[in-house]
Amino acid sequence: MTVQQQQAMIPTVLVYEDDPGFPPTHVNMPVPHPVPQLDTQPFPTAIAEPAPQPDSAGPGTEAFRYWVAADALSRASRTWGPLVPSGTQWHPMVGRALTAHLNAGDDLNAFYNRRGLFFFRHTVAGVTVAACESSEVVEHETGHAVLDALRPQLFNMASAEADALHEAFGDISSLLSSLRLESLRTAVLAETQGDLELSSRLSRVAEQLGWAIRQGHPSAVDPDCLRNLSNSFFYTDPVHLPPSGPANALSSEPHSFSRVFSGAFLKVVAGIFHMQDLQDQAGLGAAGEIAGQLLVDAVVAAPVVSGYYAQIAGHMIAADQRRNGGRYSQALRSAFIRHGILSMEAAASITGPEVARRSAGITEAMPGGADDQGMTPVTIQGTMYGITQPLTLAAPAEERRFGIAGSDPAGGTVRPADPERVATSYLEDLFRRGRVHVPEEHRSDAAFVDVSPTRLKTHEIARATTGEGLALIRRCFD
Ligand SMILES: [Zn+2]
Repeated sequence: MTVQQQQAMIPTVLVYEDDPGFPPTHVNMPVPHPVPQLDTQPFPTAIAEPAPQPDSAGPGTEAFRYWVAADALSRASRTWGPLVPSGTQWHPMVGRALTAHLNAGDDLNAFYNRRGLFFFRHTVAGVTVAACESSEVVEHETGHAVLDALRPQLFNMASAEADALHEAFGDISSLLSSLRLESLRTAVLAETQGDLELSSRLSRVAEQLGWAIRQGHPSAVDPDCLRNLSNSFFYTDPVHLPPSGPANALSSEPHSFSRVFSGAFLKVVAGIFHMQDLQDQAGLGAAGEIAGQLLVDAVVAAPVVSGYYAQIAGHMIAADQRRNGGRYSQALRSAFIRHGILSMEAAASITGPEVARRSAGITEAMPGGADDQGMTPVTIQGTMYGITQPLTLAAPAEERRFGIAGSDPAGGTVRPADPERVATSYLEDLFRRGRVHVPEEHRSDAAFVDVSPTRLKTHEIARATTGEGLALIRRCFD
């Protein structure tokens, strides 16, 4: 039997590799993939809807949407599985398998909460945009679940930077999952002529969802996708940024601010790729795995502090020292300096001896742990938000490793804001975007203002589970 004949016998389904693309000129072609396996360790996934017969169902059918989602769930799970420490599993509230709900309602959105993944759909200009039909959206949401497994402390953390790191991790999950596909690696190398920093199918996240949002809100997303990792956004402490803004400006809104980190990560992949023996599709696949491993190491080891991006960046450099003898140090430093995540001074301070001196604390770090481990509780008066009682926020911890921080655009290093400022600024931003649900019983007589009643609420005010008063609790990451 020839290889072709053997391949012809493997049952396949039609899927989009990364995204449906957008009409009328950028629609992608579905391709056949082997029928995906969902129940794989250490990150088993499932789909709430019944599995259709594997056949050649095409775009617009429920069967096609099912297989795209299944293929993407499986790929994201297999992307992260080999990179996480052994014993890592979904957050305990998720249960054994992470379950995706493919038709959760009418919206242009998707979210992760600890009960599963929820994908919405909405018809725009005659096109039904189902979030589950974009592999990149599915892989982004799965990324939230993976990071929650590694670092549950980020879930309720009142920090714009920690929140944005979650969003960056989601987009990086899409990027690394796409890099597992040989055909896509080959296509991207052709499109960029080997310069991975350039805008490409790899850097453009969620083209179709971006198109759909753009029809009603032209400035809310990039001109050719939802977010583009090929960008030059420079770090500013998010406490100094406006709570929202157009896509071409940086705001403290987590998806907007995530682009500083994910932009640097694309440059890290590009830099590592250039150091591979061969700059071919296999070298690109290897670069993705190396960069992903350094990110996982950093997320597990880095304390959640204000100035969190700098901590993750510093721990990626440290991880490269330990794993690769510092082989990719220049690629990492250069990417983080260009995005202002590390100041020149900070990048220079993470030397081999310094990493060795701190290595005990780094290698002892474990994934998971209690949700409130390492956080600083900050209690504020609820009155100005129209809330009856004092409110406790989970602020980032104070203790940094490496004593490093981001760039001050004027030169030198910024001093990260104190935890209280980080937490209160985060809360105020949430209210200014209309993202907090406040139950009637906790509203005071003073006018409670919901600036955007129809908007998905990512947070709610609820009775504190420990101590008195109220707490800010996350509902989901969207
Ligand atoms: Zn997200």
